[in-house]
Amino acid sequence: MSAAAKTPDRAPVSSKVDAVVVGAGFAGLYMVHRLRQAGLSVQGFEAGGDVGGTWYWNRYPGARCDIPSLLYSYTFSDELHDEWKWSEKYAPQPEILNYANHVADRFGLRSAFLFDTRVGDVTFNEATKRWTVKTDKGDTVEAQFCIMGTGCLSVPKEPDIKGHEDFKGLKIVTGRWPHEKIDFKGKKVALIGTGSSAIQSMPIIAAEAAEVYVFQRTPNFSLPALNAPLADAEVAAFNEGYAAYKEALRQGLPGIPLPPEDWEPNAEELKALTESLWNGMGLLSLSSIPKITRDRRINDAAADYVRAKVKELVKDPVLAQKLTPGNFPIATKRACVDTDYYVSFNRDNVKLVDLNDTPIERITAAGVKTSDAQYDVDILIFATGFDAMTGALMKMNITGRGGKSLRAEWAHGPRTYLGLQVAGFPNLFTVTGPGSPSVLSNMITSVEQHVDWIMDAIVNLRAKGKATMEATPTAQDAWVQHVNAEADQTLYGEANSWYLGANVPGKPRVFMPYVGQNYKIRIDEVAAKGYEGFQLAG
Ligand code: NAP
Repeated sequence: MSAAAKTPDRAPVSSKVDAVVVGAGFAGLYMVHRLRQAGLSVQGFEAGGDVGGTWYWNRYPGARCDIPSLLYSYTFSDELHDEWKWSEKYAPQPEILNYANHVADRFGLRSAFLFDTRVGDVTFNEATKRWTVKTDKGDTVEAQFCIMGTGCLSVPKEPDIKGHEDFKGLKIVTGRWPHEKIDFKGKKVALIGTGSSAIQSMPIIAAEAAEVYVFQRTPNFSLPALNAPLADAEVAAFNEGYAAYKEALRQGLPGIPLPPEDWEPNAEELKALTESLWNGMGLLSLSSIPKITRDRRINDAAADYVRAKVKELVKDPVLAQKLTPGNFPIATKRACVDTDYYVSFNRDNVKLVDLNDTPIERITAAGVKTSDAQYDVDILIFATGFDAMTGALMKMNITGRGGKSLRAEWAHGPRTYLGLQVAGFPNLFTVTGPGSPSVLSNMITSVEQHVDWIMDAIVNLRAKGKATMEATPTAQDAWVQHVNAEADQTLYGEANSWYLGANVPGKPRVFMPYVGQNYKIRIDEVAAKGYEGFQLAG
């Protein structure tokens, strides 16, 4: 399994700082930068061996961003923007990881973090009004503020198929991909799952391996990346509009273009919009279709367009039918952006195993046994997804005021105020937490918006001479109700997606991201009204 570069054993740290930041992905890195700029002392912790978060762990072949790189970039520093050059429209994982490393070096952020260190207990002390953070390396750090930059997709689901521990070959989870290169040449490979991780990796594995068996439970909608080197002219055109783009972000744009809210496309407009799904802009073309997740007529048109494309691309009509997504509206599970996914099924060495026809009975020492066959393989890959949005927070033992545990508070689903705080957990902030747009936006944009908001809130608190900031239960109740009401107006509830926690057995079925419009405007208004819905005390 994963062979993360290990830092040498070290003595446990015991210290008092202004803020603890958990996670050295894009959220944690920028949070540390802002805290230090404001003169606060910071201790960061990161479970991985280095910076990069999701891009540190997900090293599977074909991993790349699904939002164009020019947009999937920090905007907080013009110098950073000017000096960094992306090589492709959708940058590959190693390049995005280089970017995270460049940012860490350029702004001197690495020194704030202890790596290979997992945070366990996070406890609020009512007497001192500080958090005590303990780690698996024996560290104990006290801090006034605790900021969770722990990511939305950072806890891979553990393989849960009967017998998986019996498999004698190489077993890999995509979200914990080994650091060393895996040689697929001449190998038989079983790939379980057909989400983004599988869809990105399968064509590359298939180009090398002897056989690839793709075990599909639910066919997914995937749009072509049409990835290509980034031409200088494209970068120049983007830079022309960069100041306006940054201003639009400041005004509330979630980092991806959105159509006007009241646009009802007519038949001709809808046809053009659905055809744009094949223009290589992937998720951006999907989110450019007005009311795609709210209006069945519009959703059906887009879904049917993709279904027809699958049938065009896959030569065998029976196979094409099995690969055609049918039982949920498009975009209600996160759509995938691929390079040659569907056409790879035309290869002789790629076989689809439809688990609806022949379910997996168990994993054996030699491979995968379904109801009608045994597939002997050398490599078994679990591309089976994540305990999304709440997984990393629930893995820690977070205890707030009055001994309240976050796990107990969220036993029936996450409850937050604005996706930024939880009532009863003063001075603890979640970057892109449940109840905020997070995974439905450009994540880097949402990270910057949240970090900036949290930083302003901390500066405001200190300027007022107060010790704690805490969401009130009333404000939280109202926000949770609003988040649910917004979700209820959409088609999202019709898919068994990780947005709803439906992919994790036993997880409460609650739609976790915020789908309403103008989120940033709302949180800025809350700040402008003296942090309405928060109690500032002490
Ligand atoms: P995912 O979308 O949750 O897909 C997991 C797949 O595994 C699904 O096809 C699921 O089937 C299947 N599965 C799960 N448990 C199974 C079981 N016990 N037996 C058989 N099949 C099983 O996970 P992911 O592909 O890792 O992607 C998760 C998210 O990460 C994406 O939606 C995206 O937001 C992000 N991501 C982004 C990129 C990118 O392009 N930048 C790349 C990878 C991931 P069901 O659908 O039937 O549950």
